[in-house]
Formats: sequence, C-alpha cells, structure tokens
Amino acid sequence: MSGKEFLKSVDQVFDNAAKVLNLSVSLANQIKAPNATYKVNFGVRIKNKISTFTGFRCVHSDHLEPVKGGIRFSLHADQAEVEALAALMTYKCALVDIPFGGSKGALIINPNAYNKYDLERITRRFSQELIKRDLINPSQNVPAPDMGTGEREMAWIADEYRRLNPVDINAFACVTGKPINKHGIRGRAEATGRGVQYAIKEFFRHKKDMKIAKIEGSLEGKTVIVQGLGNVGYHAAKFLSEEDGVKVIGVSERDGAIYDKKGINIQKLKNHILNTGSVKKYKGYINTDLLTNQCDILIPAALEGVINKSNAKKIKAKLIVEAANGPITYEADQILAKEKLIIPDLYANAGGVTVSYFEWVKNLSHIRFGRLHKRGEENKILNLISSVEEITGRKLNLSNKENIIKGSDEIDLVRSGLDDTMRSAYIAMSYRMHSKNKIKDLRTSAMSIALEKIALSYQTLGL
Ligand code: NAD
Repeated sequence: MSGKEFLKSVDQVFDNAAKVLNLSVSLANQIKAPNATYKVNFGVRIKNKISTFTGFRCVHSDHLEPVKGGIRFSLHADQAEVEALAALMTYKCALVDIPFGGSKGALIINPNAYNKYDLERITRRFSQELIKRDLINPSQNVPAPDMGTGEREMAWIADEYRRLNPVDINAFACVTGKPINKHGIRGRAEATGRGVQYAIKEFFRHKKDMKIAKIEGSLEGKTVIVQGLGNVGYHAAKFLSEEDGVKVIGVSERDGAIYDKKGINIQKLKNHILNTGSVKKYKGYINTDLLTNQCDILIPAALEGVINKSNAKKIKAKLIVEAANGPITYEADQILAKEKLIIPDLYANAGGVTVSYFEWVKNLSHIRFGRLHKRGEENKILNLISSVEEITGRKLNLSNKENIIKGSDEIDLVRSGLDDTMRSAYIAMSYRMHSKNKIKDLRTSAMSIALEKIALSYQTLGL
C-alpha cells in the first residue's frame, strides 16, 4: 500500500467518526490536517563517497505538547506514510489518555545494508537536523522506536541531543525507548507486544464482543497466527504462548513462514532468526504467507496494507488484532467488519506510547519508579502479618510469603499502569460500540472517543 493510500484509509476512518459525532466540518478539517511536515536531505560520507539520505518528521497535532511518535527506518517510507502515522499517534494518545500530541518520523534507508558504525553516523546526522529545529526536544517533540529502529538508535539520538544541549537537565527525556543503562525504563522494549497481550485478555472479559467474533471459552488453547516477529510481534507471541497457554501455530516473516499445528516455540524461533537472519531452515518452514490460514486470532504485526481487498474475503480468523499500524486497508475493513471483530491499531498497539509516557515522566522526575515506596510497602505488610500473628497467637504458614510481602518494583508498576490503560480504554471502546446505534465496530468507536477529546481540547483553546 502506498503512503497516500494509507493516509486515505486513516482519513476515511476519521471522517466516519466525525460524522457519528456530528462534528462541524471546519473543526474536523482542522484536526485532520497535519500541522507541518519537515523534509530533510543530508549527506554522510560512507566509504569515501557522499551518500544522500532523505528523512521526515511530521507534527500532526500539537494540541498537547510534547508531541510524540516513533522514527522508522524503512526504504518504503514517504511523506504521506509519515503523515498517516503521525495522525494515528494523535488519535491513539487521545484514546488512551496520554497527554501528548501526535508526530512521526522516518528515514528512507534499509538499516540492514549498513554496518553499525555507519548507521550510527547516519542516525546522529539525522538527529542533528531534527534537534536544531526542535523536532527532537524533551518539551516539544519526543520520538521513540518504530519499524527498523530500537534501543540502540534511541541511545544515539539521546546522546546527540545531550551533546548539543549540555546544560539541559532533562536532556534524556528527548526520546523514549532508550536502554535501561541510558535512562530507559524497564518494560519499554516489550511494551507494545505486552499491550497487545493485555488487549486480547481484556477482549476475553467481554462476552458481547466474544459473541460478535464467534469465539467461546477462554484464551487458553486458542490458535494464533502472527505476521512479523519483530519487536511487537515477538513480544506479543511470546507472552501469549508462554503465559496464557495460547498456541501460536503460524509466524510469517519477510522471507517465508513457519507453520506448526502443535504450536511454535517462539523463543527458539526468534533465536534462529537472530542467528541466521532468516526463518528458512527452521522446522515447519513454508514459502507462503499465512494471513488467510485458519486460526482463532490473527495478529498482523509487520506492515500496513497487508490485508486488502485482494485477500480480505479469504481471511478465516475470527478475531483480528492490529498490532501493526494500518495493516487493514479501509476497503478490506468494510468487508471484514461485517462478520469479524477487529481490535483496531489505534488501541491495540498503544502499549508502546503508554510506557513511553512513563519513561518520559521518569526522566523528568529523575528517579526510578518504586524507589521511594518499595520497602515501605513491604514493611507495612510485614507489620500487618505480625499484628495478625500476635492477635491470633499463631504463626502464619504462608508458602508464598515472599510474594505477598514483595513491594512494587519499576517493572511491576509499569505493567500495572499499562494493564490499567489497556483495560480502561477497551471498556470505553466496547461500551460505546454497544450503546450507540450509529457505531457498529470498535474502530469507529475508538476514533470517535479520541476525536471527542481532541475536539474538546481545541474548543477549550477557543477554536
Ligand atoms: P520491527 O522492525 O521490529 O519488526 C517488523 C518485523 O516484520 C520484522 O521482523 C520484519 O522482518 C517483518 N516483516 C517485514 N516485512 C514483512 C512481510 N512482508 N511479511 C512478514 N513479515 C515482515 O518493527 P516493530 O517495531 O515491531 O513494528 C511493527 C509494526 O508495529 C509497525 O507497523 C509499527 O509502526 C507498529 N508499532 C510499533 C511500536 C513499537 O513500539 N515498536 C509501537 C506501536 C506500533
């Protein structure tokens, strides 16, 4: 799918929600249009030759600042794609109550074609271009990882910002998704996949939604197919299979797929990919994509537009969870939403920005979450146990005493905050779908909730 088609798809969902809300056309147009997109060409000397790179950073809406959104490294990136992704960030943050506006960035590059030293120089040069225009800045614009980027790139960006702003005490809040030893937060790398897991668990608490999807029983034993075993797909598949008893029967990747009816060991497959750079030669390898195979839950976690009008009618999964941004085109959505339940990207992959928000707050407060209260919490419970023992005259034989006493660490608090965010947003989305006649699917419901909040924010500002 081209960037333009992707942007059109996002705008069509927006228009449907604006109609449901009876939003004035002028306000809707103001919210929908990206504020500004910066395009930069810059040169880096590689192997004695100057290579020119093109990058973008779009600020979709700064009704709240900083604006937030990942930076992707991809050969297919273009301006329209960045604008579509930035718009999704605005709506996503509003939906899950993260106090940020929306932004997104991209560099047109195949990161695998460069060694890490050259990639570092390219990333730092791109960062300089964005930093000098405040398109990376702790109080104005805070990037994060996306496709093709991760902790390593975020560490380079943070370091570059700090070098250019050595007296900014909040320098490390200029980007999120950093490694722990570079002011990151525990649970950020896994956050988007973890959020997908929490979203699916919440779906299983909503009987009416399960009925729409024609899914019965519990999550345990359900079959799942995942597209893309990168950051998001890997964590989602790993947690669902290792913690919830889900059977991941298919994983499709850029160079083929693995299919195993008995369930795939995700960690082993990931290790194989990391060691060999490919899914080939792994047990169950087939050279096809598995989007249209039979399963209970389909999790596209790679690219946009992979479910489109050419394959929509052949999709057999009952529940589709959009872990990637925009994996279902608008036309495909029109076909699928009639008979399946789709948990939309706006909500399903919001775990990343949620934990990014926690990381930003941690960087501004300069203290690890849990550091002040952990031992206090433990002492309170210990005192309570002592009092009970004293009153009853009996020693409590608690087999898991350590777990009961244990105060909250940073990771516990991050997961708790993420779980709460995902659950609250799902409840709001589902409630609205079932209580408003004009809203027939979770996607329109999610967008209408987001839009209502953004419109109110604009109106409060006097627009
Ligand atoms: P990633 O680069 O870590 O992983 C993408 C994976 O998809 C890779 O393993 C790649 O090999 C695979 N892939 C590429 N082309 C494919 C194809 N044609 N078929 C099957 N697999 C293919 O990226 P990511 O960070 O996991 O992001 C994936 C999606 O999730 C993107 O849409 C991104 O915008 C979205 N997202 C990511 C985050 C985050 O925190 N990383 C947050 C929100 C949304």
